[in-house]
Amino acid sequence: GSRKLVDALREELARHGLQDKVTVKITGCHGFCEQGPLMIVEPQKVFYTRVQLEDIPEIVASHLVGGQVVERLLYVDPATGEKSLTYETVPFYAKQKRLVLANCGHINPEEIADYVASDGYLALTKALFEMTPEQVIEEVKISGLRGRGGAGFPTGMKWSFVRAAEGDKKYVVCNADEGDPGAFMDRSVLEGDPHAVLEGMLICGYAVGADEGYIYVRAEYPLAIHRLKIAIAQAEECGLLGDNILNSGFNFRIKIKAGAGAFVCGEETALLTSIEGNRGMPRPRPPFPAQKGLWGKPTNINNVETFANVPLIIRNGGAWYAAMGTEKSKGTKIFALTGKVNNTGLVEVPMGITMREIIFGVGGGIRDGKRFKAVQIGGPSGGCLPEEQLDLPIDYESLTSAGAIMGSGGLVVMDETTCMVDVARFFLNFTQAESCGKCTPCREGTKRMLEILTRICEGQGKEEDIETLERLARVVKNTALCGLGQTCPNPILSTLRYFRDEYEAHIRDKR
Ligand code: SF4
Repeated sequence: GSRKLVDALREELARHGLQDKVTVKITGCHGFCEQGPLMIVEPQKVFYTRVQLEDIPEIVASHLVGGQVVERLLYVDPATGEKSLTYETVPFYAKQKRLVLANCGHINPEEIADYVASDGYLALTKALFEMTPEQVIEEVKISGLRGRGGAGFPTGMKWSFVRAAEGDKKYVVCNADEGDPGAFMDRSVLEGDPHAVLEGMLICGYAVGADEGYIYVRAEYPLAIHRLKIAIAQAEECGLLGDNILNSGFNFRIKIKAGAGAFVCGEETALLTSIEGNRGMPRPRPPFPAQKGLWGKPTNINNVETFANVPLIIRNGGAWYAAMGTEKSKGTKIFALTGKVNNTGLVEVPMGITMREIIFGVGGGIRDGKRFKAVQIGGPSGGCLPEEQLDLPIDYESLTSAGAIMGSGGLVVMDETTCMVDVARFFLNFTQAESCGKCTPCREGTKRMLEILTRICEGQGKEEDIETLERLARVVKNTALCGLGQTCPNPILSTLRYFRDEYEAHIRDKR
């Protein structure tokens, strides 16, 4: 409903003769979905939540004309009952570290001037005029940045492989095929700060020696595509994209390719096959895209969040970035916090934070006073972690050893009423439907596992089902061709590890 609010606000301002004195700025997502539509009144940063059309006359008359804050629209913390006057004092924001999301909700993503005024494209000019490509790669290596799309591969190392690869032509590809149910990290960055992604890709292109980039974005994200098109056109007009960028001699162009809704196209080789105009199916690796990627040329693929981190690193230095996080997982991570938690939305937190701090600090605890049961981290291919893992510091390695994955950053919180077998079935149902069918373990294995899970959930489970399910899950994990098949058993294996008694109860009690 935000668009209607903007129109109503502009009309109301005109009625008071304030149309030239008050600027109405449309921004990207603030992240606090639970409380939307949101309005921030600058310069005091007064934070209004759940604004409705009928609130507009009062906001204008009372606040903008009379100088009186509309108290009833301020955020009230459900845990303490305290009101927050400004954006910064809302607990949901105060406990985050918003670096990649710093511009989202603050700048107009359709105005390149807004991005430039927030130090945008400073990192690109620094890279082009003060650094060699090797120095750029070294800085990214020093930062410790790892791929935010899921696998966590060191970004600087990936860039160095592409730079070293032989080829008359090289590509940079941005993976914006965000397909995890409930995840909208990439969408939010693209809609709220598209130039940050373009700048990250440009710096990468300069570093690896590429002159062409593709953004592979879900067709289900029309606003993201619309804003990307505007951002690309504006960057071209300003000489920041195209030939001889800023008279540096560096050429780089970016094209958008809309995906067709297949989850497997988030897998990098399937994504490349899809850009090439073929059915999006994974290819065996090696050869890796760094050697033989798009149309057989060396290609660097990173996801949206990874690219959006790059300008920050080049502007502030790799050491600055590496000072945040844990020994092996640096910087911050964006999560889509959903489920039975009081504050749902998009959160950015430093690596190493515990799950407890995210769920009970930023998220404000469990809804309706219920008890926490589990959190699913890493999307449909992630794992379910129980209460005893709440103090686990979030980094790539600790999550893997606990049976989950960082994934792209989906976090689904469950309370005491959730059946964990049903959760495993829900996620497997999704991955089974999205299996491309190319390799036998995934094509057949996901079907058989889903049959067993459905049987157990419907009270028809057999004694031997748990053992068969576990064995099958391990076979699929170890033998499937691509990441989808290799990780789709995670919800089963993690729930069997931590909630085995629920499987046993279903079979024993025939319920
Ligand atoms: Fe396709 Fe699944 Fe095999 Fe991946 S693991 S190639 S999605 S069948």
